[in-house]
Amino acid sequence: MKKFQEYLKSELAAIETAGLYKNERIIVTPQQAIIRIADGQEVINLCANNYLGLSNHPRLIQAAQTAINERGYGMSSVRFICGTQDLHKELEAAISRYFRTDDAILYAACFDANGGVFEPLFDERDAIISDALNHASIIDGVRLCKAQRFRYANADMDELENCLKTARSQRFRIIVTDGVFSMDGNVAPVDKICSLAEQYDALVMVDESHSAGVVGRTGRGVSEHFNTYGRIDIYTGTLGKAFGGAIGGFTAGRQEIIAMLRQRSRPYLFSNSIPPAVAKAGIEAFKMLDESDALHHRQQENVRYFVDRMLAAGFDIKPTQSAICAVMLYDAKLSQTFADRMLDEGIYVVGFYYPVVPQGQARIRVQLSAAHEQPHLDKAIEAFVKVGKELEIIRNT
Ligand SMILES: *Cc1c(COP(=O)(O)O)cnc(C)c1O
Repeated sequence: MKKFQEYLKSELAAIETAGLYKNERIIVTPQQAIIRIADGQEVINLCANNYLGLSNHPRLIQAAQTAINERGYGMSSVRFICGTQDLHKELEAAISRYFRTDDAILYAACFDANGGVFEPLFDERDAIISDALNHASIIDGVRLCKAQRFRYANADMDELENCLKTARSQRFRIIVTDGVFSMDGNVAPVDKICSLAEQYDALVMVDESHSAGVVGRTGRGVSEHFNTYGRIDIYTGTLGKAFGGAIGGFTAGRQEIIAMLRQRSRPYLFSNSIPPAVAKAGIEAFKMLDESDALHHRQQENVRYFVDRMLAAGFDIKPTQSAICAVMLYDAKLSQTFADRMLDEGIYVVGFYYPVVPQGQARIRVQLSAAHEQPHLDKAIEAFVKVGKELEIIRNT
């Protein structure tokens, strides 16, 4: 152990020296537009995945409390032994209605959904073709599967077509993409992906974690946005972002696929089922979204409001089609200084730099939410302008 401890110490020191050490900021309030951090400072939060403002919504809290009272705290079982309640089935039905699929299967997280989707369905005779910017959980899921692996540059349809040609002799092919890429906020060209899939006889899987609740006329994700209903075979997604932000993930898709996952997907078979309170709050979230598009509308308005004013102020913003807005600073150190100064101004944002984004592409990532009100955004923009001038990012006019 002593040697091992020494080894870990030096590795940790190297992480710190490289400036890559992740410190966690401690929050002492619910997740919402204004949060209080441990030193007592109140800040406007622009870095949660709380896209629809449901993380602290009274209806979800009420639903979770009801479930705790009626169904207790935990299930102490996996689904196939004694861990399935009617609530789990209702939530799966709500998810498959939302995405208009045959069925859906719950996991403890989308990380597990992606970790458990490939290995039961594909083997060495098959090919998985993956966007280079796909989420870590997709990369890990692919690693657990014996299928041949192909990778194309982000949203590059020529490279994707080349992969499809190379993979022609495999038994089955599946193209896998994030719906929205988390660092740029761009939407995957899912319509083109579906067309190539049809041309080269491939399946399509989309991870909707950052797109569901955001993309599409009423926020129902990439198929609503591109009208690709019936052309996507597998959706994965999380309950940890737009849909309440607690915990839980899912895979939705064609009946046979979901049926096979229930039989063979290891994170489903060998991991606890989600607590009744989380299931019931999830059901309530989808019910709310069925009743009204108001939250999605508010979020979209907020994105437009923020982006328009930031562009007018002279900031360099990546074109976004989601609730993610990348304020480009390019320099790693500058991104950290900028974020620190923003916190002094009462705005909580995070600067991202290599290796999370490409070398020389450092940025502040802003995530807009239906929880934000106009005064929050005005204050945030004001702070961006103040710090931007101070650090000579934008001109002092
Ligand atoms: C956040 C995210 C996940 C992980 O979701 P969890 O439910 O938190 O495990 C998976 N895929 C993508 C694309 C994500 O953005």
